[in-house]
Amino acid sequence: MDLFQFLKVKESIKYNPMKLDDTLLLSELESLGAFAYIPNSGNMGDMLIAAATIRWFNQNHLNWGRFNQSEKNIKYFVYGGGGAWTHDWIEGLQPIMNLMQKAERVVILPSSFRDVPEFIKILDKRFTVFCREKESFEYLKSQNTRAKILLDHDMAFRLSGSIKTNMLAPTKDLKKASSKLRQIVKSLPKDVRLFRKDSESEGHYQTDLDLSNEMGWFSPWEPIENIEFATNMMFELLNHFDVIRTDRLHIAIASALLGKQVIIHDNIYGKLKGVHAQTMSTLGNVNILNDSAEKNDKIVKFLDCYVPVKTCNFKCHYCYITQNKWWGEKLPEFKYSPEYIARALSKKRLGGVSLINLCGGGETLLPPEITDIARCLLQEGHYVMIVTNTTVSKRFDEILALDKELLKRLFFKCSFQYLELKRTNLMEQFFSNIRKIKESPASFTVELTVVDELIPHIPDIKEVCMKELGALCHLTIARDETKPGIPRLSDYSCEEARKIWGDFKSPMFDFKLPLFEKKRTEFCYAGHWSYCVNLGTGDVAQCYGCGKIQNIFEDLTTPLESHPIGCHCPNPHCWNNHAFLSFGDIVGFDAPTFAQIRDRVCLDGTHWLKPEFQDIFSQRLDENNPHFSKREIGKIEKGNKSSLKYYKYKILSKITFGKKRNKYKSKLKKWS
Ligand code: SF4
Ligand code: SF4
Repeated sequence: MDLFQFLKVKESIKYNPMKLDDTLLLSELESLGAFAYIPNSGNMGDMLIAAATIRWFNQNHLNWGRFNQSEKNIKYFVYGGGGAWTHDWIEGLQPIMNLMQKAERVVILPSSFRDVPEFIKILDKRFTVFCREKESFEYLKSQNTRAKILLDHDMAFRLSGSIKTNMLAPTKDLKKASSKLRQIVKSLPKDVRLFRKDSESEGHYQTDLDLSNEMGWFSPWEPIENIEFATNMMFELLNHFDVIRTDRLHIAIASALLGKQVIIHDNIYGKLKGVHAQTMSTLGNVNILNDSAEKNDKIVKFLDCYVPVKTCNFKCHYCYITQNKWWGEKLPEFKYSPEYIARALSKKRLGGVSLINLCGGGETLLPPEITDIARCLLQEGHYVMIVTNTTVSKRFDEILALDKELLKRLFFKCSFQYLELKRTNLMEQFFSNIRKIKESPASFTVELTVVDELIPHIPDIKEVCMKELGALCHLTIARDETKPGIPRLSDYSCEEARKIWGDFKSPMFDFKLPLFEKKRTEFCYAGHWSYCVNLGTGDVAQCYGCGKIQNIFEDLTTPLESHPIGCHCPNPHCWNNHAFLSFGDIVGFDAPTFAQIRDRVCLDGTHWLKPEFQDIFSQRLDENNPHFSKREIGKIEKGNKSSLKYYKYKILSKITFGKKRNKYKSKLKKWS
């Protein structure tokens, strides 16, 4: 604990106040003379608006006072900015509208307005209404009222003065709420999801915390100390994070002022998009998911496709290609054309837009056909991921020459084979190909497979990543497939590994490590929402270690079959949990989003994931698909258990791992 915290000394938090043109706002408010101010009620975000407004009033020496509840009439009335003037919240504003009707003049500070005929009815020449985004402005203008309608900026952007941390809470309730929140926030990842859970949410995103809502309901009559305390508290809590993903407007604004990396998801009626366009579009640390058609894509399936290439230009010592000396293997001959493969995996057949991972047994980009396979799948409307060692430059040039709109739906997982890149002198080629992706509309991630041999090279790996990528690579875990239980390939314990590799702060590593070697027994939707597909043979399996349930190339008129694994995962653990569990194969499993697993923010403020993949990788299959009822789950489980094949498989798969597994492979295949 540092001395400041120990002594509970207030410390200022640095933020970047914005410079806005106040002319319009000031001239309207000064023309009122003395006025009464009522803040908009709401949550933490509304407290920030109120604090910024009050500070701004004082800074500009305006003649204002808080409205006294006992007053029946107000002559000059200023109502605080916010998002309450919409169909969902308008009912609560009826008492305010009654007061407005009796006032001589009314100014409404920058707010959003949508679908509020009740409010339009009372608007007349006594009103000056400020909007904080263009859509509200155009909506009110189009109503042809006699009110003065003006476009300005949300009051929170006008925050000035200092922000303190470790403030003493003015009430017992606030003390309790704030100490609870401090504890929660400390346990959250640095790359955090702060999404709303109410009716304004567009995507019902998985959230780590709905922070705005946590400090309870805020009424217009709240003492100023409470408003100040909540605002300072909000900044103190947000200051804990590096990357903030949110659909809460004032979480986004406060985080933007703090200079954090902010990824904005819109709310249900476009409020965040509008305010971003009006005030935040020039801020380099703020990104909004764009509103292209892709934004509305919902991923319904995840297909992990095996590309039947069994050779590689590298010899990573932990890879089975190396162990089996398969470098001389010929490139595969695909039985089916790229067009046929795309038809076999059509959107119609899969039930909608899907995420398709292309991963070779060896280097995925060696076969020339892969460019057209990726192109056809993208043209079908899917999102495609390619796993690669990022050294086959010719293939990158071909793929990155595809149509820009297609490339927006393409993602590269660049495996950082540090030792091999050094040995083969291909380090520069690797980073040059990554630069090509970065300059294109495609997205990427860089991932290092953690093996003990890399430990002496950690300082150099960090240095080269920061120099070439502007961010540290993510880390994944190597596994030993020759041993029962498929354990971690390392001589170090989890605790030691955490210490050795902790500097990389990789959410992927942090998530995978404690789950490795832990058998999953929950109901898993693999075989219903996710599948493993062999692009050479067309065989479809529910997951790794499972047998064929269908051939995707036979009879293209049949739908993809549904055989959920349920509680009978055949694998000793879910080693690719960063994909299957992050995408939601186990309903409600607490996992980071795939966006958190894959993204990094570079020193120049750019992200490895472009907006399309920020959105797609923030989705989960358990949110985009209907779930089975309890009864259906019971039936599936009964069917799975009563299957003789299942028992044979389970017993055999328990006794056969690694080399022995090959001996029993044909039996396992037959019985599964
Ligand atoms: S680059 Fe990938 S496929 Fe090639 S040897 Fe290394 S781990 Fe194996
Ligand atoms: S728990 Fe993981 S490994 Fe097991 S079936 Fe589900 S997705 Fe596959």
